[in-house]
Amino acid sequence: MTDAATRLDTIRTRIARAAKAARRAPGDITLIAVSKTRGVDAIEALIAAGQRDFGESRVQEAAEKWPALRARYPDVRLHMIGRLQSNKAAEAAALFDTIHSLDRDSLLEAMAATDAPPAAFVQVNIGAEEQKGGIAIDALPAFLDRVRAGPVALAGLMAIPPQGVQASPYFALLAELARRHDVTGLSMGMSGDYEAAVMLGATQVRVGTALFEDL
Ligand SMILES: *Cc1c(COP(=O)(O)O)cnc(C)c1O
Repeated sequence: MTDAATRLDTIRTRIARAAKAARRAPGDITLIAVSKTRGVDAIEALIAAGQRDFGESRVQEAAEKWPALRARYPDVRLHMIGRLQSNKAAEAAALFDTIHSLDRDSLLEAMAATDAPPAAFVQVNIGAEEQKGGIAIDALPAFLDRVRAGPVALAGLMAIPPQGVQASPYFALLAELARRHDVTGLSMGMSGDYEAAVMLGATQVRVGTALFEDL
């Protein structure tokens, strides 16, 4: 196997093991390969190994890399995982299948105004960090009501826990918020903590470094 195929296999195996330990079906978890800053060759190696979901954090970078790749691999699904400016909503809607960073009314309105709004995860500022994107937990219920009024399909909740502390309590909190508000999708978990995220209910894990580099 190529290095990319080996890493992909390892991560899929670990996701399946974590899912089984939590009495979940491994097929209920989508692995998103976070390809921000990665070149086309590295991305194609993963596609050749069978990976189909990819995540980018900047519209500009995605616009440079993905239209040509998508033409070659039409079954790829592209996820926007980074902060999204409202004035880029139309461009993002044309490029991405799913947005993971819907976190404010201005962006919801900009997305609603696009021709074919992608489905969106509502990003929650789960650690109440000033510098981070995401809607405040207190503002989440009313915001979910506004999203549910349409036309943007609600895919779930997404969060990036604070760095340098255990992520699991934040994963558990996001899962609890999803339960409380009848939301099914949970985008949480990165290279260092995706197994914990799966055990706590993640339906989408966003893994970059562990897929693209030998750790
Ligand atoms: C970069 C990034 C990831 C992937 O992080 P790794 O630690 O490289 O796996 C996941 N989610 C978001 C929002 C990111 O920006």
